[in-house]
Amino acid sequence: MRYSKLFTKTRKEAPTDEVSKNAQLLIQAGFIHKEMAGVYAYLPLGLKVIENIKQIVREEMNAIDGQELIMTNLQSRDKWEVTGRWDDNAVDVWFKTRLKDESEIGLAWSHEEPIIEMLKQHITSYKDFPISVYQFQIKLRNELRAKSGIMRGREFSMKDMYSVCIDSKQHNKYYNSVTEAYKKIYQRLGIGDDTYVTFAGGGSFTEFSHEFQTICETGEDRIYLHRGKNIAINEEVLNDENLKKLGINKFDLEEIKTSEVGNIFNFGTAKSEQMDFTFIDEDGQRRFPHLGSYGIGITRVMGVIAEKFSDEKGLIWPKTIAPADVYLIRLGESAEAINMANKTYDELMSRGINVLYDDRDERAGTKFADADLIGIPIRLVVSGRNGDNIEWKDRKSTDIELISIENIFKKLQ
Ligand code: ATP
Ligand code: MG
Repeated sequence: MRYSKLFTKTRKEAPTDEVSKNAQLLIQAGFIHKEMAGVYAYLPLGLKVIENIKQIVREEMNAIDGQELIMTNLQSRDKWEVTGRWDDNAVDVWFKTRLKDESEIGLAWSHEEPIIEMLKQHITSYKDFPISVYQFQIKLRNELRAKSGIMRGREFSMKDMYSVCIDSKQHNKYYNSVTEAYKKIYQRLGIGDDTYVTFAGGGSFTEFSHEFQTICETGEDRIYLHRGKNIAINEEVLNDENLKKLGINKFDLEEIKTSEVGNIFNFGTAKSEQMDFTFIDEDGQRRFPHLGSYGIGITRVMGVIAEKFSDEKGLIWPKTIAPADVYLIRLGESAEAINMANKTYDELMSRGINVLYDDRDERAGTKFADADLIGIPIRLVVSGRNGDNIEWKDRKSTDIELISIENIFKKLQ
């Protein structure tokens, strides 16, 4: 990727109409574009980050036998009426619209009902179980507040997975494997050590559901953490009865600001009963399967990472999701400098290293400032002055090393 060909431009100042740090930085650096409050487009650099996050999630979902699919964003009313969730009093984030014949349809705020309805038509025998399907999908929600940038969008990307199991035993085993997969995902995304599996309410069947809450100063949630036992509880289930159940003393809890980056639910058989989803078991009996639902906020994760990993100069992406591996700067406009920088770019690319090559005829200060703002983990500088050696600097550090291209390959390995 040559910077001279990239249509997005960084801005000198952060936009004044955004209050959240993630939106300010991501707009300033050219990763996202604001369409309206809570609605953002993902530009080439932003899309790369999103795709990198999705790929990590995809690999871990595939590893637990998830099958990827894509549902639709236009949804039929009757499927939601069956469970009483078409009602705006039951779900207060619906966007709805009408077909030409005046009949009402919904814009997907969730896919639970449509996906279960679809599964019903394919799954009849327990021999197929456990089955799990997932998608990366745009959700549309008429959220009341949209002040957290991409951490709370009215249009956002989510990974949602659903599992179908014979009974609670098979369900619990699968549920645990999802918990473990989620831990791996957040580790790979660079927020694992700051993310707590948190007891939460709202499981329509079990006593608790689980949220994955990441420490974040600007997050909208609060968790109560017992450091000794490594148990976290969210606000809604923080009461004497639950504390007793978990064997925790209220005074040992620490209140921490967090953002919910994912959650997992057990529906038990409640949802399959409501939707009349059955299968034939070993004894030829008709039974209701156990269902589970598992979300990860893809765009919210990106926002949380932008908030957490940044400084006064700009973004600092974890290696695993950065829009490129290396930000290569050419300094000087002599034929020698241009040749050497082009050669370095070609060699890096031919070894499979993703490079954002700042080949513009800009001042050094401008290029350094953009490198810091965009936040690619490693900055390399080629200039006429250093012979065949190249300057290496980590985004997080102020140390600069002069090394040969061979050593650069070694260090990148
Ligand atoms: P919240 O309590 O933050 O509104 P939720 O309980 O509505 O979240 P789910 O419907 O279960 O969340 O969605 C699954 C995941 O999608 C959440 O854990 C979160 O990471 C993400 N998410 C939810 N709402 C939004 C939003 N408006 N913008 C971006 N991500 C979101
Ligand atoms: Mg919500």
